[in-house]
Amino acid sequence: MTALLAEHDDLEPRVLAGGQSLVPLMNFRLAQPGYLVDLQHVEGLADIRLDGDTLSIGAMVRQSVAEDAPQVAAAAPLLAEALRFVAHRPVRNSGTIGGSLAHADPSAELPAVALAADAEMTLVGPAGVRRVPAAEFFVGPFETALRPGEVLSEVRFVRWPGSHAFVEFMRTHGSFAIAGVACLLDVDAAGTVRRAGIALSGVGPTPVRASATEQSLIGSVPDQDSIRSAVEATVAVLSPAGDVHGSTETRIDIARAYLRRAIEVALGRAGVEVA
Ligand code: FAD
Repeated sequence: MTALLAEHDDLEPRVLAGGQSLVPLMNFRLAQPGYLVDLQHVEGLADIRLDGDTLSIGAMVRQSVAEDAPQVAAAAPLLAEALRFVAHRPVRNSGTIGGSLAHADPSAELPAVALAADAEMTLVGPAGVRRVPAAEFFVGPFETALRPGEVLSEVRFVRWPGSHAFVEFMRTHGSFAIAGVACLLDVDAAGTVRRAGIALSGVGPTPVRASATEQSLIGSVPDQDSIRSAVEATVAVLSPAGDVHGSTETRIDIARAYLRRAIEVALGRAGVEVA
């Protein structure tokens, strides 16, 4: 696979996974690779493994397969929940986990989930294998840390010992979201947030980590006021570009409302009643 990419380097080769993004781009001549390497029959790319607390998902695992997999539900329920927001089931039957991550659409669900969960990408290329954390993988709109000739082979999630919520705003069921929030919270029995992993889609050139919100929540028992100020800490520094789907102001308003909603849903699932 990597040898083929190297051999046809001069033709700007691309790998083909589920084709749900690449084929439409080729139809519109927005992508014109001179050579395609189909990953469909490459061995070992479509496995899901749970080793202890580490869930490894092969890049060619179809989104619908991951959505239904008991290992994903057990070790990465945030991912299982977010997958149900990706397009429609027929698209998810072809679309792959790796394809969505490598495509790196800033409005897509899976990059935000990977960032919130501190997932790690395994990249295989001519120089060998390297592991890249999600925080370094997404570098721009539709741009990743993948180097020429490299292929994403799997993504790893370490089990999160707490609750989760994935929420997003979309105009019609199955359409691309305008903005969304992936939220992981670990809360102790007294309601104190021990750890938080939160990321937003659709509000920047890449998924955006809500670090200021996380820091504001950690160590406190959240109430309505502290959640509001935790949300504002992130929203205040957002400056998403507007487009035909949503202006800058619309995206910020959605981020504010949905960040709050995600935190409240995750707290509710942890059994915390927000005072
Ligand atoms: P492909 O289309 O085959 O490839 C996409 C890109 O990633 C290409 O550049 C390809 O070269 C590269 N690539 C793929 N796999 C690898 C790999 N393993 N290593 C390196 N590079 C790789 N997505 C959403 O997130 N949310 C939505 O709401 C949504 N709605 C959609 C609605 C419709 C009608 C359609 C057709 C698609 C929608 N999508 C949506 C996109 C869908 O999720 C795609 O499955 C996904 O973006 C790409 O996955 P794929 O396997 O089809 O990749």
